[in-house]
Amino acid sequence: VKRKIVVLFSGGLDSTVLLAKCLMYYDEVVALNFDYGSKHNKRERAAARAIATKYNVKCFEYTLPSYCQYQQLPDELVMQPFLASNLLITGEEIPEGHYEDKKMEATIVPFRNGIMLSLAIGFAESLKFNVIGLAAQAGDYAVYPDCRPKFFQAMREASLQGTKWGVGICVPFLKDVKKNIVIRGSELKVPFELTWTCYKGGKKHCGKCSACVERIEAFKLANIEDPVEYETA
Ligand SMILES: [Zn+2]
Repeated sequence: VKRKIVVLFSGGLDSTVLLAKCLMYYDEVVALNFDYGSKHNKRERAAARAIATKYNVKCFEYTLPSYCQYQQLPDELVMQPFLASNLLITGEEIPEGHYEDKKMEATIVPFRNGIMLSLAIGFAESLKFNVIGLAAQAGDYAVYPDCRPKFFQAMREASLQGTKWGVGICVPFLKDVKKNIVIRGSELKVPFELTWTCYKGGKKHCGKCSACVERIEAFKLANIEDPVEYETA
């Protein structure tokens, strides 16, 4: 049986290292990029395209609507953001600081990995692929409940039970800290300069949001130079 994997690919650092790793071990690899309405999805998608082109990997792009609606009066449709989060364009400002801060909970997107994984599982089954790859890592646990081992165990079980041939879920970095992923990426000669991490989605990486803070810290700990430009040089 050929091993065929759909990699959930944001265009960020972790999923780029995962993509590079999967290209070594799988017979077929495709990438799947989601725009779920975050402030940085446009930047991520551009990064994902550039990286996929470099690796000659097909990158499928899927865009989720940001709003749902209900009818109030016969002629009045009320639009409401579907998911409540300050990470999203429908939310308020992105907090600055470290992931460990309580205020980072404002960046939780409700059940994001559950939603993306569910869609990816259906997509993989449709393509007749047998595995999904996702780059969640140990640094994600602090804030995001749908990045923790128990959640992935449960999703893996749901996927095995709910698909024809039991689509698997592979989360190889789950116990790694970001520093180790940077080191692995460096060994694999990953084009770090093409990756996008910043939550704010501006022209350059802001250097202040929790995603930037974690990235800067990881490169520093790994003693490797980060080639992306930051606002706070
Ligand atoms: Zn940032």
